[in-house]
Amino acid sequence: DDGEDGFMPLPSPSVSASHSERRWGDTSSYTPRKILQSWFKLPNGNWDLVKILSTTGTESVVSLTDGKVLKVKAENLIPANPDILDGVDDLMQLSYLNEPSVLYDLEYRYNQDVIYTKAGPVLVAINPFKKVDLYGNDYIDAYKRKTVESPHVYAITDTAIREMIRDEVNQSIIISGESGAGKTETAKIAMQYLATLGGGSGIEYEILKTNPILEAFGNAKTLRNDNSSRFGKLIEIHFSETGKISGANIQTFLLEKSRVVQCTEGERSYHIFYQLCSGASPALKEKLNLRRAEEYKYLCQSSCFSISRVNDAEEFRVVMEALDVVHISKEDQNSVFAMLAAVLWLGNVSFSVIDNENHVEPVEDEGLQTVAKLIECEIEELKLALSTRKMRVGNDSIVQKLTLSQAIDTRDALAKSIYACLFEWLVEQINKSLAVGKRRTGRSISILDIYGFESFDRNSFEQFCINYANERLQQHFNRHLFKLEQEEYIQDGIDWAKVDFDDNQDCLSLFEKKPLGLLSLLDEESTFPNGTDLTFANKLKQHLGPNSSFRGERGKAFTVCHYAGEVTYDTTGFLEKNRDLLHLDSIQLLSSCSCHLPQIFASNMLTQSEKSIGGTLHKSGGAESQKLSVARKFKGQLFQLMLRLENTTPHFIRCIKPNNVQSPRLYEQGLVLQQLRCCGVLEVVRISRAGFPTRMSHQKFARRYGFLLQESIASQDPLGVSVAILHHFNILPEMYQVGYTKLFFRTGQIGVLEDTRNRTL
Ligand code: ADP
Ligand code: MG
Repeated sequence: DDGEDGFMPLPSPSVSASHSERRWGDTSSYTPRKILQSWFKLPNGNWDLVKILSTTGTESVVSLTDGKVLKVKAENLIPANPDILDGVDDLMQLSYLNEPSVLYDLEYRYNQDVIYTKAGPVLVAINPFKKVDLYGNDYIDAYKRKTVESPHVYAITDTAIREMIRDEVNQSIIISGESGAGKTETAKIAMQYLATLGGGSGIEYEILKTNPILEAFGNAKTLRNDNSSRFGKLIEIHFSETGKISGANIQTFLLEKSRVVQCTEGERSYHIFYQLCSGASPALKEKLNLRRAEEYKYLCQSSCFSISRVNDAEEFRVVMEALDVVHISKEDQNSVFAMLAAVLWLGNVSFSVIDNENHVEPVEDEGLQTVAKLIECEIEELKLALSTRKMRVGNDSIVQKLTLSQAIDTRDALAKSIYACLFEWLVEQINKSLAVGKRRTGRSISILDIYGFESFDRNSFEQFCINYANERLQQHFNRHLFKLEQEEYIQDGIDWAKVDFDDNQDCLSLFEKKPLGLLSLLDEESTFPNGTDLTFANKLKQHLGPNSSFRGERGKAFTVCHYAGEVTYDTTGFLEKNRDLLHLDSIQLLSSCSCHLPQIFASNMLTQSEKSIGGTLHKSGGAESQKLSVARKFKGQLFQLMLRLENTTPHFIRCIKPNNVQSPRLYEQGLVLQQLRCCGVLEVVRISRAGFPTRMSHQKFARRYGFLLQESIASQDPLGVSVAILHHFNILPEMYQVGYTKLFFRTGQIGVLEDTRNRTL
């Protein structure tokens, strides 16, 4: 058994080399040699590079880096690579591919500000948490001219461009990692590289300017990241046949709405609120009756109002300029700001009890008045929308008064909806501005920046959705890197010891199965008038008990065994968040007011309210809009995303966070290791190296290198020519495999032939 710590079998007495070959299909890594250096795990969990002084039987005497000499069991030693392999830029080159060696290689490079490393086909990026000198025009030029080869986001983006042109296939760059690992920065770096391809009429500049806008409205300071994206994003950049940028399209996923009305201590709401409060001109401030951020209840639930080294007023100017660039008119901009102010003032609306049944009415103060003024409706209408609910019983409609907590929920739901619609409307406007002309003949490169796997002390509906998305992405990753790889070998009839990888199909089925899966059961319970979080949790336990990826917990909780580890979810709030209802009264209010809102709402709200007025209203009894549940909508979006990605050649970037305190030069081995395991980097290295990553059809190979043969062997089939070339150049038999249609090579082999070819040409 290779135990928990080494994912490669260790050459300890209990594991023989032949076993290792059978198990992993790796024929290249283990050659017995006298091991001088080894890894030894210290009590603090870190690995120490020790020198082996002597070995007797199953015990070795070693000296630690601090000079201490210890006697340890040989099985606790893991072989280290020779010094000449220190800091190799592809983990595949490591002679020993165990976890400490991988960790050490990454750390060695990180300490020299080399934050990028290849793990076979995957790029690993470790967040430096400081400015590193790796970017800018000089670097971009160098990567374009291929005068540097060091792994980089630029290099992977360049590969995507080349493959798009060469293979005429759309490409995708899929960036994943935990919050704060550097995904969004990485996406921007890739976009910068793409932008240098140019377009015309400044389209590339426009694309870059979408970043400050979406970050202002969709990012916030959290405990993990001062600039945390609270939504997922796919940007598809289109190219014309001449290889110039012709346009772009942005799709966003699952904005965290709850942040608008509630916020944990030490975190902030969305940047744009603070930017507006501190950056608006005096005239705008007066028009919107704007105050300092500290005076808004929604914002002062946390005592954090500023971010170190960030000037909100300055950022506001950047955002306004960017809005100009993407052609959002001044008039629309002003409406956007008015809606933001309305959201803030809504939070200040308070209620007073009006009868002995705890029914309430909004206090008619500055807050209420300002909201009415900003959204341009009558104060009375607003009051009614916030304190009553129209119910239909049979054919009669009755008005029910709301209690304090109902009224607060209604107010908050209204604020969240306004903000979410505003966000969607903005994305729509941006897309209009970036739109590709009608003739979409060219190809595209998509960049996906989406929240990574999350596991906190308390996990709610948001984590549930995010982790579901990550299961899907992980399957995509697996499929491409492992399944396709193996299938190709098998199809071509080459000798390949099957390598097993963690298939997550079980877990995905747990989410998606109908009718007894997590998502179906959630939707079902959400439509039951009497459904509660507890009845939902009980249903899960009742129906999903036998599933190996599921475990019921006490009370309202349940656990899912994700590919990246177990997560226990607390179902409190699941049904409400999934229903995400806005009362019809609020919808009618928003559609009737004379400001810009009806237009902003038009696309996603009005149609629903019309629908609900038409048919489903009396069925459910409550005057609520019937619409897709959040989970259902998200699942649909994910399916579409996957369909799109399936038709692209993927390039994966795994971002790693070296510490939890956003600090430079601090590399915590345990934390890094856990992330490497979660995102499958270790597996992929093992498999890629064991395999034959380079492949070429017999025809292409014969055409490309056939002329290098001295004597012509005309009239032979491509396979014959290929074999002749291989013999002529003395390529060792273990370095390639001859398949039915293709030749398969180990890493680096084709380079030898290319060199000869280039010298001859
Ligand atoms: P994520 O999107 O994964 O949550 P971000 O991309 O927002 O993480 O990165 C978090 C922070 O880390 C950034 O605000 C920046 O300070 C720092 N950072 C990330 N990548 C880099 C980089 N390549 N160079 C310098 N700093 C970086
Ligand atoms: Mg981000």
